[in-house]
Amino acid sequence: MEASGRGIGAAAPGKGEGSPLQILVADDDPDILTMVSTLLSREGYGVIPATNGVEALTLARSALPDLLVLDIAMPGMDGYSVCREVRASGPEAPPVIFLTARVETQDRVVGLDAGAVDYIVKPFSAAELRARVRAALRTKRDTDRLLVAAATDPLTGLLNRSQLGPRVAELVATSRRTSRPLACLMVDLDFFKTVNDTYGHQAGDAVLVEVARRLGDSKRASDVLLRYGGEEFLALLPETDLDGALVVAEKFREAVAGQPVVFRSEAHGPIEISVRASVGVSWLDEGMYDAALLVAAADDALYRAKERGRNRVETPEPLEGGD
Ligand code: GH3
Ligand code: MG
Ligand code: MG
Repeated sequence: MEASGRGIGAAAPGKGEGSPLQILVADDDPDILTMVSTLLSREGYGVIPATNGVEALTLARSALPDLLVLDIAMPGMDGYSVCREVRASGPEAPPVIFLTARVETQDRVVGLDAGAVDYIVKPFSAAELRARVRAALRTKRDTDRLLVAAATDPLTGLLNRSQLGPRVAELVATSRRTSRPLACLMVDLDFFKTVNDTYGHQAGDAVLVEVARRLGDSKRASDVLLRYGGEEFLALLPETDLDGALVVAEKFREAVAGQPVVFRSEAHGPIEISVRASVGVSWLDEGMYDAALLVAAADDALYRAKERGRNRVETPEPLEGGD
């Protein structure tokens, strides 16, 4: 499973088990910065210190902390602005707690409206800061889990269709910016209804899980693979032109058809189920940077593959010099 960039994917980038959560602490007062950093380090967190707003924002983007503890009044860029910038990246953005000498209600209002989850006034209680940090991290962890669950197909563990729009938009934008190719493959299992009808729905599910695994093993790490529908999968292949896409498509077809899927049924023992797939290939033509057209063209190509006999790879139109 995978995720690209800092997006939450079927397997969110996340920290490896056991690696400490990272907290960015920004304060222009070196004594407070040291005190807060020490207090949090003792709790087992990794601390990323920053002495001003610009540094805090730069580190927030490069070091991807799990939480920010920000002073408000800092030279250059204040804490409010850092908070707004960080939170603008969406629900995956790390939470922000303000730790400030400003006691006015209006300051709290501005801070919370800037996207902070909490606001602590100096001088502060160490126990309370620790508890508020734990609370913010707990909420962040729960949110991340929900985001991952919402993006994941529970049967296969692949990204689900909700991720197609954002992923294809991002890859088409990158392709446009860099003038690099992008290809799309749509895979549909052949006569899959027969698998269910013959061996039962459970066997059908097992086939889908195994096909997802085989397709996942046949792609590059930077390729995005989704479960597009019931027995349909879609792959986005960055940096891949038509020739490259045809190679991957054939690899996908062969990965599915190459050997039968073994389903172990309690009643009948192991059953070998042979599976076939049709694959439609599309690619971004020079100057045709349209995500919807790319997917629609892969769908057209898949339709052609079905029409022309299944268990084959096709493009939307016959290729010049080919059949
Ligand atoms: P074609 O070669 O034309 O694609 O034929 P097909 O039978 O694969 O296509 P059709 O669209 O008629 O049937 C798709 C089948 O996929 C029907 C549906 O019950 C089955 N299916 C869809 N999602 C699931 C699932 O999650 N689990 C199981 N077991 N079957 C599923
Ligand atoms: Mg189908
Ligand atoms: Mg089918």
